[in-house]
Amino acid sequence: MDLSRFPRRIYTPGPTPLHALPRFSAALAATCPEGRAPDIWIKRDDLLGLSPGGNKTRKLEFLMADALVQGADTIVTCGAPQSNHCRITLAAAIHEGLKCRFIIEERVPGSYSEAASGNNFLFHLFGVEHIEVAPAGADLEAASARTVEDLKAEGRKAYAIPVGGSNALGGLGYVACAQELQQQMFDLGVRFDALIVGSGSSGTHGGLVAGFLGNNIDVPIIGVGVSRDPEDQAPVVLKETHAVLDLLRLRMTPPAGAVECIGGYWRPKYSVPNAGMVEAVQMLARTEAILLDPVYTGKAMAGLIGLARAGRWKAGERVLFLHTGGAPALFAYEDVLLGRVPVVA
Ligand SMILES: *Cc1c(COP(=O)(O)O)cnc(C)c1O
Repeated sequence: MDLSRFPRRIYTPGPTPLHALPRFSAALAATCPEGRAPDIWIKRDDLLGLSPGGNKTRKLEFLMADALVQGADTIVTCGAPQSNHCRITLAAAIHEGLKCRFIIEERVPGSYSEAASGNNFLFHLFGVEHIEVAPAGADLEAASARTVEDLKAEGRKAYAIPVGGSNALGGLGYVACAQELQQQMFDLGVRFDALIVGSGSSGTHGGLVAGFLGNNIDVPIIGVGVSRDPEDQAPVVLKETHAVLDLLRLRMTPPAGAVECIGGYWRPKYSVPNAGMVEAVQMLARTEAILLDPVYTGKAMAGLIGLARAGRWKAGERVLFLHTGGAPALFAYEDVLLGRVPVVA
């Protein structure tokens, strides 16, 4: 698929590493029935650019390029109090010499604290221009549009990026990732029996589904919902997939089953810890020295562990985990991750 007609900024020097996790796979097998588990591999999108990067880096390559084409001097975006998306968008804005403002939605009431660590600390270290705090369920698109209007009245030109950067243009970042992965599979001579990815605002999952379809990559993608069960998440992902295919002018219809989601692992609530997340974060840290995050990749890896224990794959099959970043949020969850405070099962 030719993405070259879309303006793009380049925030990462080359492909992100793709490698096996032998110690993690062995530790996982030891906890599976009959000691059998698939071989787990990882694609390190936690090593993307924009210090420290993550999946939002790929989306922002296209979104920031569009903002620059439109002559923006300010970026407005929105997210949760520990938003990786807001932090990486701010980093991209700084890199491009633009200002950046956030609308932060307090999805868990009372959860916003100006003094919080993790990403919130980085918002301030990076020098965010302004943060507006909105209550849970607020219309963030409307709040962004108001900020864009207010700045216009001051003679500035703001560009609004939606939650998670998940519109059609942002989704192109994960079409590009699909193509990068396809080339790596070819170069390494490796095939995968499944790809596991966290599924939230869905630009990542939906962009990958579009990219796999368009490039004929026949590997099932399983999205682990980080805030919704499949009946609510799959339609969001399918809508993103269609938006990306339309933008690419590809007249393709995703076949039934192209969007597979699994639920449960996000509970009790988006961003609220559970025991499976803590186990997953500790296990990858202690076997491979790779940091997951408590909100997305910890829960997505808990989903992979759960499916492996339920016998979804045979020994010798290969499962690829897409690491989407997020490690700074670990520092807002230290007590939970070291078992100093209890979490729900
Ligand atoms: C935003 C985010 C996700 C979810 O990606 P979406 O494209 O919003 O579905 C997963 N992992 C991390 C670390 C994130 O910051």
